[in-house]
Amino acid sequence: MGRVVGWECGLGLGLGIVIGWVGYRRGLLSLSGTVGLAFTSLLGFGAGGWVWGGLFWVVFISSGLWLRFRRSHKDALVDGSSETVARDWSQILAGTGWATALALLHLLAPGVAGIFAAFLGALATTNADIWATELGMLSPRAPRVITTRRPATAGTAGAISTLGTVASLAGAWLVGFMGLLLVTIRAQSRDMVWDRALVWLPVAATAGGMAGSLVDSFLGATAQGIYYCERCETETDQRVHSCGEIAQQVRGWAWLTNNEIDLVSSIVGAAVATGSLSWLAETRMWW
Ligand SMILES: [Zn+2]
Repeated sequence: MGRVVGWECGLGLGLGIVIGWVGYRRGLLSLSGTVGLAFTSLLGFGAGGWVWGGLFWVVFISSGLWLRFRRSHKDALVDGSSETVARDWSQILAGTGWATALALLHLLAPGVAGIFAAFLGALATTNADIWATELGMLSPRAPRVITTRRPATAGTAGAISTLGTVASLAGAWLVGFMGLLLVTIRAQSRDMVWDRALVWLPVAATAGGMAGSLVDSFLGATAQGIYYCERCETETDQRVHSCGEIAQQVRGWAWLTNNEIDLVSSIVGAAVATGSLSWLAETRMWW
């Protein structure tokens, strides 16, 4: 059983409120999303300490910056897409719920390196997904649906572009790199033994993030509930379109929304990251 440190809980909650408030003021978070983010930060810092808590902030801050980047241009491209709406608690939970569960698991079993790799894989998937969506929308070439290779409009569920794929790679890698950096700083500051296998964390997290993103796109293209708004003559993943019109379901399962897909893909990303780390540690230790 790990230790819960008071100042780390305070730091997590304090930072959570500050950055949540900034996100709320900028229209990125709804009020419930702000509360969800502050609570996630508190749990992350409380259960895993500043290394784990800090990694939530890598995702919150970097994806928040990309959400703001050329916002008006992106809004004009995908008028009324779900991406333009402030995120609420359910979206925060879908994106970070599995990572938070792993942080709590770490509190129960602190010494297990595989849990940290899984945590990085879950967060890498969420980061990769947001980076890919936000940067992919700026792609000069139309994205293509992952299963059919047919061109689609920007923001379509399951459509990918080269720019978006490069962005997801970078987003996943950043989480793994920051994970390696923070555990190294902590080991240095406490004179702890540093496990050589940890050097593979960026590779493992990137593999997890990419696998999670693939599942995300694949489910988005095949199984997600997709609707058609007759007033705006556009497809949407929202049952009630942003214009207020009730959209007609055209394909997919109604119960399978972006949130369930985000949660499932972060679970896959976590599993692939922890599997990759143990494989790399076992087979690549000759150097
Ligand atoms: Zn509409």
